[in-house]
Amino acid sequence: MYDLVIVGAGVAGMSASIYASRYKMDHLIFGETPGGQGMLAGAVENYPGYVSVPGPELMQKIVDQVKHYGVEVKQESIKGLVKIEGGFEVKTDKEKYQAKTLVLAMGASYRHLNIPGEEKLIGKGVSYCSTCDAPLFKGKIVAVIGGGNAALSGAIHLASFAKKVLIIHRRDEYRAEPIRVERLRQNRKIEEILTNEVTEIKGQEKVEAIVSKNPYQGSQEIKVDGVFIEIGQVPSSVLAGQLGVVVDKQGYIEVNPGMVTNIPGVFAAGDIAAIEGGIHFRQFVTAAADGARAAAGVYQYLQGEAPTPSWDQKLTR
Ligand code: NAP
Repeated sequence: MYDLVIVGAGVAGMSASIYASRYKMDHLIFGETPGGQGMLAGAVENYPGYVSVPGPELMQKIVDQVKHYGVEVKQESIKGLVKIEGGFEVKTDKEKYQAKTLVLAMGASYRHLNIPGEEKLIGKGVSYCSTCDAPLFKGKIVAVIGGGNAALSGAIHLASFAKKVLIIHRRDEYRAEPIRVERLRQNRKIEEILTNEVTEIKGQEKVEAIVSKNPYQGSQEIKVDGVFIEIGQVPSSVLAGQLGVVVDKQGYIEVNPGMVTNIPGVFAAGDIAAIEGGIHFRQFVTAAADGARAAAGVYQYLQGEAPTPSWDQKLTR
């Protein structure tokens, strides 16, 4: 039986592994894509130590650091998590593993708009990742939907390939960091369409146009070649449900500031975790910190010390 299994190989899971290695805990880390969503990030400009670093480069360094300690990143898909005597069983598409503790760091997946035309045109002009697909839209007109950091950095990135980028946000104020808003507004290729929503994506074989709720330049139909939907994420917490881990209304795993869930021996870290009393701040640096705290909690738990504060001592409830 392993001391620990870490489910998810993004920044949070990798950071938990680095700390677990230093605590000499025998552990495995699972993730179909080592590096997780960080592999899709563009320029990361707010991770201490780097003025600017491409997401895949930063993640590769972190993956190398995990491997430096001799830890194997298992690229197996986890099918189930079950409570057993003295720990947990992890069933993958290939094997069964047993561990005394778990760190759940499965992150989140892209939220969909759920409007007509969206599903049909995925991969045919509809994308959820500007960083991945921007080069396919060289010289084209694209729309980016959303008002958070992902949408704004996506629009800025797309502008270095596309002829024109329309950013469409449902409110008149962005959620993104002011520095990104400033950079967006300095870019002549980007046009803002605020207080408007996209209600349909049109096209037969590929995206041809979007339909907006309010008219734009006198029409509700706007001709575009691509639509980038960057409206946040939904937590991948289905596996947590199998264990009876408490999640909030949006599906994020509830943890206390020690990354402790309601199930003894189960911790959560990164984008999937909602820290009681904390703000939802989902960054590389916060995911890394969560992973470190979760690993420290696991160590205390295995030593028979109660992590501080325990689930029962949550700050607010
Ligand atoms: P986010 O911050 O949650 O923003 C989502 C945006 O989409 C919001 O502006 C929201 O509008 C809009 N939205 C949500 N549902 C919508 C719908 N159904 N229709 C239209 N608009 C909708 O998500 P994110 O930008 O993906 O970022 C996720 C996390 O990753 C954040 O913590 C972010 O800071 C972080 N991130 C960091 C970096 C970095 O370089 N550090 C880069 C990208 C992302 P409202 O504002 O009206 O709610």
